[in-house]
Amino acid sequence: MYTPRKFEKREKPYKFLTLSFDDGVKQDKRFIEMLDQRGIKCTFNINSGLLGNVHNAPYPGGEVPHDEVEASELHDIYLNHEVAVHTLTHPLLDKLSEAEVICEVGDDQKALCELSGQNVFGMAYPFGRCYTEETIRIILENTPVRYSRNIASHHGFEMPDKFMEWCPTCHWREESALQLARDFIALEPTKDSLFYIWGHSYEFDMYDGWNEIAELLDLIAGHEDITYVTNGEIYKYITEE
Ligand SMILES: [Zn+2]
Repeated sequence: MYTPRKFEKREKPYKFLTLSFDDGVKQDKRFIEMLDQRGIKCTFNINSGLLGNVHNAPYPGGEVPHDEVEASELHDIYLNHEVAVHTLTHPLLDKLSEAEVICEVGDDQKALCELSGQNVFGMAYPFGRCYTEETIRIILENTPVRYSRNIASHHGFEMPDKFMEWCPTCHWREESALQLARDFIALEPTKDSLFYIWGHSYEFDMYDGWNEIAELLDLIAGHEDITYVTNGEIYKYITEE
């Protein structure tokens, strides 16, 4: 089962790669097979209050399945990857009362610990941008969550400096993703660096993107000087002595 590995600080800077995928949908199973074949690690942000739901996600070209995985299969599906909070029911957190935020985040964390067997302490914000300074305070003071990802791509390879507003490098489908991967592979870093890709696996159905994501993963996998990690492993690497 997944437990965060410990990476020692060292003289030679690290080149870390991490992924973060949201919503805990059934397409994660096929995606995880692709990740496991290539030795790539991902953090999956899951709404435990929606597990087992069957519905579609609409987009301008039609709709695709957005079925959440079953509670009973969660443990086995995410066995090699980090499970993290995405709130119980995917609300707009900045529109909720303090008690509701505590319930949405804290109860999701508790349920995910139980279902996955993991010590869950990470998160991604539902809708990416819908949080405030107050939301962050409530989460830190009342739940075990210690980092949370937003969706403000910075297109760089910097290590995170604000864990509760952790910005990714890019979304997998951004035009620049492949070029960023090539730049990262060529990078000879003078300090620790991080390439951070986020998305949703149902988007591979939505945009006919399974080949596209395979191409990106093939490019970035298997490099001796790249360390393939979860979000939580980065958090622990930076915060723990
Ligand atoms: Zn989401």
